[in-house]
Amino acid sequence: MTAIRILIAALLWLVTTAVLAQAPAHPPIVKEGKTVQISPNVYLIPDEKVGMVPNVGIIVGSRATMVFDPGMGLRSGQAVLREVEKVSKGKDIYIVNSHFHPEHTTGDMAFPPSAKVIRAVAQQQDVEEMGLKWVALFASRSPMLTDILQGATFRTPAETFEKEKIVDLGGVRVKILRLGPGHTRGDTAVFVEGDGVLFSGDLAMKQLFPAFATPQSRVGSWITSLDTLEALKPLKVIGAHYDMGDAAMISAYRSYLIALRDRVAEMKKQGKSSDETAETLRNEFRAKYPDWDQPLRIHTAATAIYRELP
Ligand SMILES: [Zn+2]
Repeated sequence: MTAIRILIAALLWLVTTAVLAQAPAHPPIVKEGKTVQISPNVYLIPDEKVGMVPNVGIIVGSRATMVFDPGMGLRSGQAVLREVEKVSKGKDIYIVNSHFHPEHTTGDMAFPPSAKVIRAVAQQQDVEEMGLKWVALFASRSPMLTDILQGATFRTPAETFEKEKIVDLGGVRVKILRLGPGHTRGDTAVFVEGDGVLFSGDLAMKQLFPAFATPQSRVGSWITSLDTLEALKPLKVIGAHYDMGDAAMISAYRSYLIALRDRVAEMKKQGKSSDETAETLRNEFRAKYPDWDQPLRIHTAATAIYRELP
């Protein structure tokens, strides 16, 4: 894979995330004092639909606390750490990231050295190949982002795993799953078993089109990942961005991806070009999903699927 393809994917992602148009009124930093309890052992700092702010998960056991996606840059991470201290019972901290993108990972650096990052091998590969390139690209977009990402870096994981890892936080069992490639190669979800709470990352979000955000993004394995998430039978599902929902979010993503894949396959078979296919399907699927945001992502998805299909 060439550096050019990484750059193109990153630029496309930025455009379809409306980073370029973002008003400085809402700096993309995780807000303090907004933490809500969503189940007996799980807390959420909602993104309030601010671009480049993730939904932050805090899972609390008697021995340890797990943080999922502590936001972008040192200040986001510091805000999340203070929220973690308000609800934690034990001293140990684990950090898990949904994927390598800077707004999900670079808050990690605010945590003390004793906090353990657990990361899928595939996600670590993404970090090593693309992490700092994306940080530099984000930082170059505006003085505000340059400031937020000052000194941003990636932590070395204390533990890596291939496909699945169970962590017992003390009375609270958490299943960490490496899925994908979907949004990225190292897509990771976290399921809090007793509470039935799933943090699905960018693999399933509510009323927001899925982003094929890297050269490794694939529709086939994305659909398989959704099957795996659905089999967990979650009661509550929190995507990386936007509102919390339930298992219907997973089936909605699957229906969309299957329908889009089928239409791309049909048009490719008819001899239509990639551009014509993407343009036609962008209009078609925007009309089919009028209440989903970021319809530009349909174009990127159709282009990626066109390339993937025989
Ligand atoms: Zn992302």
